[in-house]
Amino acid sequence: MKYFILFGPPGAGKGTQAGAMVEKYNLKHISTGELLRSEIAAGTELGLKAKALIDAGSLVPDEVVEGMIESKFNTVKDVNGFLLDGFPRTIAQAEALDKMLEGRGESVTGVVSLMIPDEMIKERIAHRAAIEGRADDANIETINNRIKTYHEKTEPLIAFYQEADKYYEVESMGTIEEVRELVFSVMDNL
Ligand code: ADP
Repeated sequence: MKYFILFGPPGAGKGTQAGAMVEKYNLKHISTGELLRSEIAAGTELGLKAKALIDAGSLVPDEVVEGMIESKFNTVKDVNGFLLDGFPRTIAQAEALDKMLEGRGESVTGVVSLMIPDEMIKERIAHRAAIEGRADDANIETINNRIKTYHEKTEPLIAFYQEADKYYEVESMGTIEEVRELVFSVMDNL
């Protein structure tokens, strides 16, 4: 099994690129953001707790997303691997993922990182807000806090995966098709 991580700041285009990636390489797409939004839509207790944190631009607790990921690993079959989108988002989550995979005799295949400069993040999110209507895209304070959370908690993962020699960065400023080709050229070699 391949275990790809799709990495990048909010608005970098992870959700946009994920579809083509899972199709080409026969992967199961696991987006923790989407899983959390469906818990919210279903009105579960977990969803209610997550909503307050997501609306504030904060992260939900590590254990919550780790549990979601592990249950997918346990149940999804008939694919060549997984595309993790929005996970891991903290060093603790990355360490938990390594442990989960170690227990299965597996390891992270590679991290495909979509990079955009900070000033583009808000532009992209504003554009998406108009299309998708996500509550956490609509409020400027939430967006600012998501960017801050990204820099403080998530960006340290770059060094973590560089040290493991698993980090592959792609500039995500071009068109959707241009970025897709760059992503494919990385993944073809992993
Ligand atoms: P984006 O790509 O814009 O960052 P996501 O859909 O990946 O958005 O995530 C939306 C929100 O869900 C995050 O801001 C965070 O509150 C929560 N979330 C998603 N994944 C995680 C995670 N791995 N750990 C903690 N919180 C998460």
